[in-house]
Amino acid sequence: MRKVVAGNWKMHKDRSGATDLIATLVAAKSGLPSGVEVIIAPPFPFLALAVEGVKGSAIAVAAQNCHQAAQGAYTGEVSAPMLASMGVSACLVGHSERREYFGETDLLVAQKVKALLEAGITPIYCCGEKQEERTAGRHFEVVSAQMKDALGALDPEQLMKVVVAYEPVWAIGTGLTATAAEAQEMHAFIRGLLRSHGNDVANAVPVLYGGSCKPDNAAELFAGPDVNGGLIGGAALDADQFLSIIRAAGDS
Ligand code: PEP
Repeated sequence: MRKVVAGNWKMHKDRSGATDLIATLVAAKSGLPSGVEVIIAPPFPFLALAVEGVKGSAIAVAAQNCHQAAQGAYTGEVSAPMLASMGVSACLVGHSERREYFGETDLLVAQKVKALLEAGITPIYCCGEKQEERTAGRHFEVVSAQMKDALGALDPEQLMKVVVAYEPVWAIGTGLTATAAEAQEMHAFIRGLLRSHGNDVANAVPVLYGGSCKPDNAAELFAGPDVNGGLIGGAALDADQFLSIIRAAGDS
């Protein structure tokens, strides 16, 4: 199974901070486990310098968002074909912050997934329950609905091009983390949902864990057999922490 560690920078860094972080990661990557796909997702203004900066390294560049249309009168938006034309190879979609602060629904997220696949970009599809949903014992139901609504219309060949990130909303940026057992339990559940589209799909799609994953808990979280790496927020802004998490994925 592929192992992937992706860093979501959110709305952080300026040009010089982004340049420094990219250069440090590129310099260190040759000494890192070769079996881990490393992706960085800087904000839009830094994508061009990121694509340029990672050239010759095995690091890939993702965007954090895109519009669902290929082009049009949508002031301020960026389309999937535009990202592809810049050398961006992956894009986050369905992140809980987009759902919460920008009103993104599963229907919209499904349209974005489709637009990304049509542009040849890997969607990193984020799903996960809120605290009250877990407390009410509805976490499997919520994740199942998110998976079905956003990915249900894809055929197996398209699904195999997706990366799933399970991110319990209550663990994102809060310092709270799912226990390794809770993460593995949900990842196994997601693997089962993928298996309903065929063994090829279940065996091809990496399922990443996201939510306060740090150097000191990464190894334990990644030990779960259905945890294939991580989507990292805060710790991806610091080269040493991000590299340490990549090493943990390589050792898992
Ligand atoms: C994220 O934003 O996807 C995330 C997992 O953030 P953090 O690692 O900071 O919880």
